[in-house]
Amino acid sequence: MFISLDNVCFAYPHVKEKALDCFSMTIEKGEVVSILGPSGSGKSTVLRLLAGLEVPIHGTFTIQDKVMFDDKTFIQPEKRGIGMVFQDYALFPHMTVAENILFGLFNLNRSEKKKRLNEVLELVELTEFEKRYPHQLSGGQQQRVAIARAIAPNPSLILLDEPFSNLDAELQLKIRKDLRAILKNAEITSIFVTHDENDALAIADQIIKIDKGKIKHIGRPCDLLGAQPYPYDGMEDQQDQRFFVEV
Ligand code: ADP
Ligand code: MG
Repeated sequence: MFISLDNVCFAYPHVKEKALDCFSMTIEKGEVVSILGPSGSGKSTVLRLLAGLEVPIHGTFTIQDKVMFDDKTFIQPEKRGIGMVFQDYALFPHMTVAENILFGLFNLNRSEKKKRLNEVLELVELTEFEKRYPHQLSGGQQQRVAIARAIAPNPSLILLDEPFSNLDAELQLKIRKDLRAILKNAEITSIFVTHDENDALAIADQIIKIDKGKIKHIGRPCDLLGAQPYPYDGMEDQQDQRFFVEV
């Protein structure tokens, strides 16, 4: 198992209710996983825990059998080899596209940096835009820069928080396809969170539905779409849940 989260529990300071309760999941290498849930369900909290921005109450998180946290261990965020794409992209406004992407590549020498920069620019199809500043790009292009910046240091896991929330509906459709292609071509294991079922269906290999900090269902998009529903009783609102494995 490439990534494993076992019985992870977390509460924000001075809040009685747990933001995440007994959260367990596993991810294979190269898989694109969607965490799907309504606003306030704990999606960003999962990512913050994985990135090391929060400390769990208990539980274990491993990447390739290397413990990131458990009762005895807490690996600092910068040592985890995890890339993060924030909801607002968080690009450095005073840096060009190239400078933004090069930011995380401090371990490489000059020629290695140039090579990696060109590789990721090609991957996100922004080769001609490397000298532009973020304000000279569309929302979709800014998002691709943020993805390129996260991918450039070759992280073992990339986390994306609501990657489509700042895009208009038309762009959203195109970017959905692009994002899956980019992540798959880069062969990077990724977790993206969304409140939009269509995002999850279009992009993910595996969908984890959460609500109120608990996992409700785990399944593949085809399970969710399941063309062969069991005897249908007309309960529309339950339709999407029936093809999932209860956990
Ligand atoms: P989502 O990303 O699914 O919208 P979050 O993970 O941001 O949800 O939040 C999960 C729950 O934790 C919500 O009830 C939210 O109000 C609460 N929460 C988030 N951040 C904090 C914080 N810093 N302090 C206290 N409670 C928080
Ligand atoms: Mg959120």
